[in-house]
Amino acid sequence: GPSAAARQGAVACLIRSVGGADYRLPHTGQTKYADDAPKIPAGAVTAEDADLIVDLVRQGPVKMKLILTPQQLPDVESYNVIGDIKGSEHPEQIIIVSGHLDSWDLGTGAVDDGAGVAVSMEAANLIQKLHLKPKRTIRVIAWMNEENGLAGSKQYEKDHREEWSNHFAAMETDGGAGHPIGINIKGKFEIKKLLAPVLAVLQESGAGGTNFAEHVGADIQPMEKADVPAFSPIQDSRFYFNYHHTAADTLDKIVPKELAENSAVVAVVTYALANMEQPLPR
Ligand SMILES: [Zn+2]
Repeated sequence: GPSAAARQGAVACLIRSVGGADYRLPHTGQTKYADDAPKIPAGAVTAEDADLIVDLVRQGPVKMKLILTPQQLPDVESYNVIGDIKGSEHPEQIIIVSGHLDSWDLGTGAVDDGAGVAVSMEAANLIQKLHLKPKRTIRVIAWMNEENGLAGSKQYEKDHREEWSNHFAAMETDGGAGHPIGINIKGKFEIKKLLAPVLAVLQESGAGGTNFAEHVGADIQPMEKADVPAFSPIQDSRFYFNYHHTAADTLDKIVPKELAENSAVVAVVTYALANMEQPLPR
């Protein structure tokens, strides 16, 4: 990034957008500066314009004028939004179902992560509508400030880390609303065996796959680190980075049927976790 460029004598740094789309919008992101290099201006340039710049540079010296407008404003007070369906037998034991409420500022954040909030709320809504009675508490969380430093996640950790042993499992949906094909698992391999009946149900809609991962959700990472079993839907991510953190991340990119499929998968896993007879290994 810009720190490496600055060490080579660069006065500014333009990153070629790493998203997959070809609509000439920059795919933006965060910049981290190293302490031991000059903090030079940095920005994302579209893939098309990066190609053009490369072409021009081949023909001779190129001059560029940059106008970069971002600024870091002071923090303001904000909140995680949390709702519980109280467990009927073990109300103190909690299954977290979550997405993050904030978004990158260029678009409206439909894909990242309005979809995850909608999926999590709808999972709880489906369980209510079906008059199911979860034995453990289902806690829906819309996390605040995932994108700019995980402040909501850190505050939840501060407030609840003494209760991690009662956090039975944590789930986060933060990969858009693409068709789900299974669940990511951060935890012991035995979990897959314990969830076999649930995976069989999910397989009826083609979502019975599993993938063990070291990390499945940014906001639930404090729980992952405390060995709380963590889950996320495995989603078709082929188009996610066409829109993620661009001005094109808007609601029209969400396919309602696929959004509903994700809610169904998360609802099934959530209810199964809430009603499992045995605890999950840690
Ligand atoms: Zn996100």
